[in-house]
Amino acid sequence: MTATTAGLASAPYDDLATALRGDLIRPGDTGYDQARAVYNGMIDKYPAAIAQVRDVADVIACVNFGREHGLDLAVRGGGHSAAGLGVADGGLVIDMSLLRSTTVSPGDHTVRVDAGCTLGDMDHATVALGMATPSGFLANTGVAGLALGGGVGYLTRRFGLTADNLLAADVVLADGSFVTASETSHPDLFWALRGGGGNFGVVTSFTFRTHDIGENGIIIGGPVLYDLADTGETRHDISLFRLDRFDPRRGVVARMVHGIVHRVERVDGSRLLFGLLLLHFLLLLKLLDLALDRRDS
Ligand SMILES: Cc1cc2nc3c(=O)[nH]c(=O)nc-3n(C[C@H](O)[C@H](O)[C@H](O)COP(=O)(O)OP(=O)(O)OC[C@H]3O[C@@H](n4cnc5c(N)ncnc54)[C@H](O)[C@@H]3O)c2cc1C
Repeated sequence: MTATTAGLASAPYDDLATALRGDLIRPGDTGYDQARAVYNGMIDKYPAAIAQVRDVADVIACVNFGREHGLDLAVRGGGHSAAGLGVADGGLVIDMSLLRSTTVSPGDHTVRVDAGCTLGDMDHATVALGMATPSGFLANTGVAGLALGGGVGYLTRRFGLTADNLLAADVVLADGSFVTASETSHPDLFWALRGGGGNFGVVTSFTFRTHDIGENGIIIGGPVLYDLADTGETRHDISLFRLDRFDPRRGVVARMVHGIVHRVERVDGSRLLFGLLLLHFLLLLKLLDLALDRRDS
């Protein structure tokens, strides 16, 4: 949104509070410090007001109020921006975090999520139906900021970025109007929303394409780290783990598998560690499967 002058304490915030269905939290109010906090604890900004919006009408009221009174607006989804862009000194924060409803359409393979949803909210809705939209690695990152910035996660290599799977977005524009952006409606805005970050309006909901992920909707994921010095020491029969799939020419994955097998051999029966290693190994199988399927399709 357009930023002009930060922090007009003289703006008639009582009027805004009256217009909102959600709460307007101001300095001195109970919960102000909690409401201004974002994920990056190094960010310590003091907005003039934080609107915890409850619906699209609240968002429109905030945008109009900010424009009419020349305020800096900060829009917050999950609050994970490392730079703390979800909060502004002296400005008006539009906090979307209470808008968290989701609607899955299994037949259409789509999910519509409110802009305050976290990745965990979206996964919760879709995975139960054996589907997923590619998103990020942590459940509490906001869908909004992640999707608007692109969105990279476990399913990206198979299904693309989060932004690649965006089908439509409902947006409140700087003049207070409300539009739906898609390939066919406001296509320029739709293009900008898929990776351009914020600043093109306040998105109130996203509709994404979903993909069948099968296997009861379970994907096992996580990083695998091992000592490079161990590479090549052990020759193990890994046919149990579908050796045919692990062509050594596929480099990194083959070496990682090799490293895991080597580690398992060295722990001498530690069940816990073995379990963890096996979990990581299953993850590798899954990721490799996905990568090969994608390459072959
Ligand atoms: C711990 C952590 C893990 C991460 N993991 C991943 C990952 O796996 N994959 C990945 O791709 N990225 C990842 N990121 C980066 C993350 O995607 C970005 O920081 C993203 O901007 C966070 O979105 P948010 O909604 O949580 O953040 P916020 O701070 O709420 O918002 C970020 C930006 O988006 C704008 N914005 C938010 N909501 C809206 C809205 N409704 N309308 C318009 N603009 C809006 C904000 O104004 C701000 O500029 C991670 C970040 C952290 C801190």
